[in-house]
Amino acid sequence: VPMKLSALMGVSLKLGRFYSSNAAPTTKLFINGKMVESQTKDWIDLHNPATNEVVTRVPKSTKKEMEDAVESAKEAFKSWSKTSIITRQQIMFKYQNIIKANMKELAENITTEQGKTLADAEGDVLRGLQVVEHACGMPSQLLGETLPGVAKDLDIVSYRVPLGVTASITPFNFPAMVPLWAIPMAITCGNTHVIKPSERDPGACMMLVEMLQEAGCPPGVVNVIHGAHDAVDFICDHPAIRAISFVGSDTAGQYIYERGAKNGKRVQSNMGAKNHGVIVADANKSNTLNQLVGAAFGAAGQRCMALSTAVFVGEAKEWMPELKARAEQLKVNAGHVPGTDLGPVISPQSKKRIEELIQSGVDEGAELLLDGRNLKVPGYEKGNFVGPTILTNVKPSMRCYREEIFGPVLVCLYASTLDEAIDIINNNPYGNGTAIFTNNGATARKFVHEIDCGQVGVNVPIPVPLPMFSFTGSRGSFRGDTHFYGKQGVHFYTQVKTVTQLWRDTDVTHSQAAVSMPVMR
Ligand code: NAD
Repeated sequence: VPMKLSALMGVSLKLGRFYSSNAAPTTKLFINGKMVESQTKDWIDLHNPATNEVVTRVPKSTKKEMEDAVESAKEAFKSWSKTSIITRQQIMFKYQNIIKANMKELAENITTEQGKTLADAEGDVLRGLQVVEHACGMPSQLLGETLPGVAKDLDIVSYRVPLGVTASITPFNFPAMVPLWAIPMAITCGNTHVIKPSERDPGACMMLVEMLQEAGCPPGVVNVIHGAHDAVDFICDHPAIRAISFVGSDTAGQYIYERGAKNGKRVQSNMGAKNHGVIVADANKSNTLNQLVGAAFGAAGQRCMALSTAVFVGEAKEWMPELKARAEQLKVNAGHVPGTDLGPVISPQSKKRIEELIQSGVDEGAELLLDGRNLKVPGYEKGNFVGPTILTNVKPSMRCYREEIFGPVLVCLYASTLDEAIDIINNNPYGNGTAIFTNNGATARKFVHEIDCGQVGVNVPIPVPLPMFSFTGSRGSFRGDTHFYGKQGVHFYTQVKTVTQLWRDTDVTHSQAAVSMPVMR
């Protein structure tokens, strides 16, 4: 029977927090299996997006603390890389149970720090949990290759071996899922790990690493440091860190990819997006509009796979009034209020930016079909709320089309043919995801094969692959060559060692040394 973490540990679920009398609680570091209070003088206030009250203060770790975290991961690697794969698997089985048992507490933390609704926060945890479940099968995923008798009495075998200390740098929008894209994969492959979660909502990550320890993961295998730019530079520059998994914005992602690569590290960098949904009039109208509205406005549009752009082909243009009617029905409120469809956006700055982008659309000639600005939520007047917004008649030259808005704003374009819709999407620099809504198999097939995006949905609005596959965003949405989780995740977190071996009963005695290149015939 899965036990609640609070019962297992006999402590409050305000994990990683330290309360002092007159200041907001602080978020701790996690180094060598211990929650550590930072000695820094530099703190970042974390606000609840629904109220803008300070929830916790997040430290900008000192250099020494970050060094300690890497040192602890380096030391732990010596024994962790030698633990049996079966032992690592057993830890994952237990981890899965503990996460499930604490799902509600994790979701509450996410809603408080990030703002999304409780149901959506559980989805955040669940999509990460699926990677833990996938990592339970690591023994078979780590199988190498063998070829006996390559030459006379000569066999070749390759092993997938861990890299050493690995790291991840994660965004605010999925505070549980994205850390869980990296941690289970990295450690079941035999690596140790240092994670720098988003300074805007590190609470779920703190809970997750404590749960991992409870599941039997030894101290030092996973460590957490906090901070912003300095912590990122530290990770990119530290010689002991072999690989970096990054998820976040373009600016940070390109910077980390370049700086990490320059220092000889393997980097996978998942970045921004502008995902288009293509609506063909032969689709099931009701389902399509519901899926579109859910995927555009869910999580207040703060998903890298949100369908933030809709291309209506031909007569599907007539569906706009019904699209608006469905969007208007959504309830905007604090994430923990029952019945809420979308919560606040992450910060006042983000709200301001979203509202400016809406205005830029109006100024450049788009039609504002639904305006979610100036929304007041009773009881949460200080929250960062933006209601569902629809801009129509948008052109690819407009700023609201070119930039990732990352808010509850759906920009709509019209195309006369499917070819025109495909051209629009293929000319957009991003390649994270796209979806088509149609009941015609030939239309769907043409779209799937001609579209240049890494993740394609057919009547599926948010085609985030399950972890037996990989998260395969492409073009401007990704830097690197091996993706997160799935087979590619295993490749990212391992290197191949190939052993060529010759064993003979009776050795052939050579009269002199062979100096030309052995051809192994
Ligand atoms: P962000 O880039 O601001 O932050 C991500 C991480 O990078 C944080 O840990 C942050 O501390 C660090 N960081 C921020 N700015 C930096 C800089 N200039 N230099 C170095 N490091 C920096 O991203 P965010 O706002 O937290 O997340 C939203 C973004 O993430 C969106 O663009 C979204 O599309 C993207 N995202 C992409 C995926 C994907 O899989 N492609 C998934 C989730 C989110």
